[in-house]
Amino acid sequence: MSTPAVAVDPLRKQDIAANLAEIAGRVAAAVAARGDPSVQTRLVAVSKTKPASDIAAAYELGHRHFGENSNKCKALASVPNLWVVETIDSAKKAVAMNKACEGREEPLSVFLQVNTSGEESKSGIAASECVAVATEIVQTCTKLRLKGLMTIGAAHNVHDGVNPDFELLVNCRKQIAEALGLNDLELSMGMSDDFEAAIKYGSTNVRVGSSIFGARSYPPKN
Ligand SMILES: *Cc1c(COP(=O)(O)O)cnc(C)c1O
Repeated sequence: MSTPAVAVDPLRKQDIAANLAEIAGRVAAAVAARGDPSVQTRLVAVSKTKPASDIAAAYELGHRHFGENSNKCKALASVPNLWVVETIDSAKKAVAMNKACEGREEPLSVFLQVNTSGEESKSGIAASECVAVATEIVQTCTKLRLKGLMTIGAAHNVHDGVNPDFELLVNCRKQIAEALGLNDLELSMGMSDDFEAAIKYGSTNVRVGSSIFGARSYPPKN
C-alpha cells in the first residue's frame, strides 16, 4: 500500500475515524438485523466537495469504498481503476457512456439511476421505464455491464423505516430480473439520513457523505 501524497491533519483524521466507526457500526447492526447473511452491504464514503486530504485520511484508516461526483463520461471512462458508475440516468447517458468506454478492455460496471420519488430535482429514469432501459443497456451497450439500480428518494419518506421509494426500487429490480433473467443486481440506496431504512429494504450499497465528512458546502444537483 502506497501512502497518498496528501498531508492529513491528525485531528481531522480523528474526527473522520470516529464518524466512520459510528456509521460502519450502524451499517453492520442494520445488516445483522436484516437477518440474511447472503446479502452484504458496502459503505461508500461520499466526499463531494471535501478536500483530497479527507479522502486520504479515510484511506489511511483502512476505508476502501469511495464515491465521487462527476458528470463527464469521457473523463470517467479513462479512469483505469474505476469500479462502477452509479448515475446512468437515461438511455441517452447509457449510450454516451458506452461510446466513451470504447477504448476500455473490460466493460464498465454501471448502476441505472431511477427517480423513484418523481421529484423534479432528482435525476433518473422513471420506474415505469426501468425494464426498457435495462434491456437497452444489456442488448446494445456492449462496453457496459449492468450491475445494479441506484436511487436517492425523497427526504421525507423515512418515518418508521417505511420508504415507498426504496420499495419501488426493489420492485424495479424484480421486474428487470423477471424480464432479463438478471438475478444478482445490486441496490444502491440509502444516504446519511436513511441508510438504515435502505438496508432494511435490501440495499447492498449505501452512500454516506455528511455523516462521515461533515455538512456539504453546497447542495449539488443529483
Ligand atoms: C451527496 C450524495 C450522497 C451522500 O449524501 P449525504 O446525505 O451527505 O450522506 C449520496 N449519494 C449521492 C448521489 C450524492 O450526491
